[in-house]
Amino acid sequence: MLEVLRRIIQEVNGARSLDAALATIVRRIRKAMQTDVCSVYLLDTERNCFVLMDTIGLNASAIGHVAMRPGEGLVGLVGQREELLNLEDATSHSHFRYFAETGEERYSSFMGVPIINQRKVLGVLVVQQRDKRRFDEGEEAFLITMAAQLAGVLIHAISTGTLARLSDPNSQTLLTGVAASPGMAVGEAFVVVPPANLDAVPERDAGDVEAEVARLYDAIEHVRNDIRHAAERLSSRISVQEQALFDVYQQMLGDAALGQEVEKRIREGLWAPAALAQVVRRHVQYLERVDDNYLRERAADVRDLGRRVLGHLQQESAATPAVYPEQTILVGDEISAAQLGEIPREKLVALVAVRGSGTSHVAILARAMGIPAVLGMGELPLTRLTGTRMIVDGHRGRLIVRPNNELEHRYQSLIDEEKALVEILEHEQYLPSETQDGHRVRLMVNTGLAMELGDSLRARVDGVGLYRTEVPFMMHQRFPSEQEQSRLYREQLESFAPLPVVMRTLDIGGDKDLPYFPIHEDNPFLGWRGIRVTLDHPEVLIVQLRAMLRAATGLDNLRVLLPMIASVEEVDTTLRLLDRAITELREDGHDVKRPLIGVMIEVPATLYQLDALAERVDFFSVGSNDLTQYLLAVDRSNARVASLYDACHPAVLNAMHQLARDSQRLGMPISVCGELAGDPAGALLLVGMGYDILSMNAPNLPRVRAAIRRVTLPAAQTLVRETLALSTTANIHVHLFNRFDEWGIAHLLPPRD
Ligand code: PEP
Ligand code: MG
Repeated sequence: MLEVLRRIIQEVNGARSLDAALATIVRRIRKAMQTDVCSVYLLDTERNCFVLMDTIGLNASAIGHVAMRPGEGLVGLVGQREELLNLEDATSHSHFRYFAETGEERYSSFMGVPIINQRKVLGVLVVQQRDKRRFDEGEEAFLITMAAQLAGVLIHAISTGTLARLSDPNSQTLLTGVAASPGMAVGEAFVVVPPANLDAVPERDAGDVEAEVARLYDAIEHVRNDIRHAAERLSSRISVQEQALFDVYQQMLGDAALGQEVEKRIREGLWAPAALAQVVRRHVQYLERVDDNYLRERAADVRDLGRRVLGHLQQESAATPAVYPEQTILVGDEISAAQLGEIPREKLVALVAVRGSGTSHVAILARAMGIPAVLGMGELPLTRLTGTRMIVDGHRGRLIVRPNNELEHRYQSLIDEEKALVEILEHEQYLPSETQDGHRVRLMVNTGLAMELGDSLRARVDGVGLYRTEVPFMMHQRFPSEQEQSRLYREQLESFAPLPVVMRTLDIGGDKDLPYFPIHEDNPFLGWRGIRVTLDHPEVLIVQLRAMLRAATGLDNLRVLLPMIASVEEVDTTLRLLDRAITELREDGHDVKRPLIGVMIEVPATLYQLDALAERVDFFSVGSNDLTQYLLAVDRSNARVASLYDACHPAVLNAMHQLARDSQRLGMPISVCGELAGDPAGALLLVGMGYDILSMNAPNLPRVRAAIRRVTLPAAQTLVRETLALSTTANIHVHLFNRFDEWGIAHLLPPRD
């Protein structure tokens, strides 16, 4: 059964459209279960009913016509109860409803299971049998497993299907993802594709057909040469049979085979990379389906060859610099910091990615740059989006593809309103960040991108609360040298001096990879991350510490912060390395000072070791992003659990409250540099708890300052008491909104649904 399941899923996965996927499902399941009928109903969310989408066994004329509301008929009952229904004599069930057009009266037994994805019912899968027959336990289990597996595949096919209909230039489609960076934008999609990925080649017109054909044969010729050279290099080391494989490759690449087919598609109007991808995908799908192990393995060869040819085609395209639209919306499967950096800032208005979530690091970068972002889209037909007009709503996590004029105008006026609010708040940006009764809160900025520097920022903040050094590391092709780092850090320290700058040692791992130091792990957020990496590579840490110390010479505003600390031994070892770096630099004649050292409170273990940590370091900085992730056991970059990730969870807020009190008892300065500090409601809660240093992305400063200036400290303290008495995250958000509304500052909160 497992093999049958695997084959069906594979086949459905390879289907080119939703209709093809459904047709495969009903045919294959009927055959596997040897039933008379197999049908699939999908929920039409607009009409709120389950519609018969395909069947084998019932009258085909009923497809698209038979529809049942939740609770109506047996199918509606399965959909409503969200559980399996297995009946020997369906017609005697109180919910049985007869649809003449189906010819259903002929069938006695009925088994239906809901198709559920992420708690939402997508449809119902049904098998029926003429004879009275009770489907046995094994059959129940098979259909349930089938439905569970199909859910993921169907959601893909449904969204692809929805977007496929977009070839009609008047149709507008709304898609939802994770609201990852606030703000709204209207612009044109620019799709970034990973190189040599056959599934991510954008579809474009051929333009100059002859030139495209020439380009294709040129690329094929390159690959043939590569293979010939590889075969020659290996000739003395491989057997005759293995050598024969290279001949097979050469044949596959021969003009008569692959090339001609691709050429035909180019002549039909597609550009070379997309024509190649289509042909290769078709061959691979065919080979994967056949019942012959040898041929199935050839599918991998065809794909490999296809990738190689594509690689050559793309190398050539990469040589010509990309032309970005004036209002670029960057769209990709996963967007890296480096890709963000490639686009001129003035042209980039928003980003959209299939993966990632609100606290994944690309989201943090987007927020730091003030760019709206919607991530974790699940599925997007990337290949067909280039040049498409779209709206990105980073507050609500919406992407609207090909918006109509009316919607575009509506969004444009919302964007103008937001801009106006920022301009109004701008006037008070140089006023003190203090409550109405004079309680001063130090507002600092999180940095990492060079573009955030500037005098205007220095005049309105109390320093840099978190400089994420990994960001410049991501922009390099290798570890930056001590000199390079020192120059970079000096620039940062100088532009804020005499204000303090908290520099965090390299915090890679988790979802932050360096292109030249990839870390592949099954469970990266619980793995080799932050200080764990740099303590295992003291040569990297020492260079970084030396660069920081040297950069701070004569400025005296450097603070060093250690990420991902889970135990005091890690602090002790780092401090020893720091002392060594200081001694060595002094021996070399550098006049370096020992900076203040802090640890990030972001692993829950540190909450219970505050006394021991306080004996060793000078300050604490709360990483509320990771503290939330680890307290709630929710992977911060996993879109599937993004709705469970919330720093306003009562457990997180209680931990933060206790932490503030413990630090006061210990006389330890403490700040918050996670995203909670940059949220106006979160900021007021933190102020009420006793935190008086908040560090955030520059675009959040105006709203947070405005919120602080409109309340009194006792009001913020009352807000904390009231909030901590609530036991659910949802109630906390409602309460915060209501209080903001009462105070007349609800407009400072990001819009939510
Ligand atoms: C945090 O974890 O809250 C934090 C500030 O660090 P990062 O988001 O870079 O992990
Ligand atoms: Mg962190």
